[in-house]
Amino acid sequence: MNDTLNELAPLVDPDRFPLLARARTEGKPIAYLDSAASAQKPAIVLDRLRDFYERDYANIHRGVYPLSERSTEAYEAARARVARFIHARPEEIVFTRGATESINLVAYSYGDRFLQSGDRVLISQLEHHANIVPWQQLRDRRGIRLDLLPIDGHGDIDMDSLRRMLPGAKLVCITAVANTLGTVTPLKEIIALTRAAGARAMVDAAQAAPHLRLDVADLDCDFLAFTGHKVYGPDGIGVLYGKAALLEEMPPWQTGGDMIRTVTFERTVFAEAPRRFEAGTPPIAAAIGLATALDFIESVGFEQIGAHDRALANYAIGKLGEIPGLKLIGTPRRRAGIVSFVMDGLHPHDVGTLLGAADICVRTGHHCAQPLMEHLGITGTIRASFAVHSHAGDIDRLAEELVKARQLLG
Ligand code: PMP
Repeated sequence: MNDTLNELAPLVDPDRFPLLARARTEGKPIAYLDSAASAQKPAIVLDRLRDFYERDYANIHRGVYPLSERSTEAYEAARARVARFIHARPEEIVFTRGATESINLVAYSYGDRFLQSGDRVLISQLEHHANIVPWQQLRDRRGIRLDLLPIDGHGDIDMDSLRRMLPGAKLVCITAVANTLGTVTPLKEIIALTRAAGARAMVDAAQAAPHLRLDVADLDCDFLAFTGHKVYGPDGIGVLYGKAALLEEMPPWQTGGDMIRTVTFERTVFAEAPRRFEAGTPPIAAAIGLATALDFIESVGFEQIGAHDRALANYAIGKLGEIPGLKLIGTPRRRAGIVSFVMDGLHPHDVGTLLGAADICVRTGHHCAQPLMEHLGITGTIRASFAVHSHAGDIDRLAEELVKARQLLG
């Protein structure tokens, strides 16, 4: 019992997040339950950004003066830090502007080069639009076949369907954690089956990266994407991991400066991977802030984060279950710190607006997962998602305001 109580306390003091600390000292504390959309930033990340801009900032790679060399070193050290975070090698890390861009890079570069008309790509019913639309576009460009991997009544991947659908598939694109239902998918098993079927696996780890230890060497996935702003880092930075041998074979998808070896007016020789995929000036400071954010997460520890997520999700499910007419959406076997629900007769946006007026931040709507909503027969949900600063008090406030919303809205 004591353990559970401890796990319901913040893992990291909310005051270490300047925005949350400011709101509290101004007498309007925020219950920030929207970390799945974007995480608040700890002071350590903000300090690192400021420090970098004040001491070491210049454009990278091209400068021969010490300041540019320092900036380049910090940027490349950030790449090595990201590689360590997911057990990859630095040359397997491409910096992008977000998970969306990472997935588009794979769809355009790998997809256009290696997938042909009639090739089957599987995506699951849990996917975010970022892992649906790029594949639909590839279907329209290349004539691939896009097949939908169904979920069961709990919101888990239907593994029998996966086994049935895998033979002959070329690529499986799957989320590690579903952004709406919180489902943690059995990645290791899915990827093992995918490999056994001779297909390649791409993981959307945008929601997983803040909650689960990711080990691409152990998972043996071909590609993995995540985004900086959900792991307590800056926005505008994303990561694509790709197996070195694959990246080497892939053509660039955006072209310009910094991704070339030589250019004449007749032709261009591209740089090696990963530079070939980083056209133009990259988000330099954001990459450096991301590295610090990963230090921050690892200093908290994934075991603690997992236990905290479970305790908060169970507590939320218990509390919300007491509210008349509230229905949880999704009961996955394994869940990250995300809980979605609807309230009988109430529109999620109306509920979200009332919660917002009480300084409780939740996300409402379709969560960029319209096909999933359609499958579930709803137009949207109310979603509460947790971070290392979350605690039982946030959930108590949510539950109290939901009861009031019920009374007010009927
Ligand atoms: N995949 C999932 C599962 C997500 O939740 C998100 C962000 N909501 C993305 C991809 C896209 O991330 P970004 O907007 O940072 O590119």
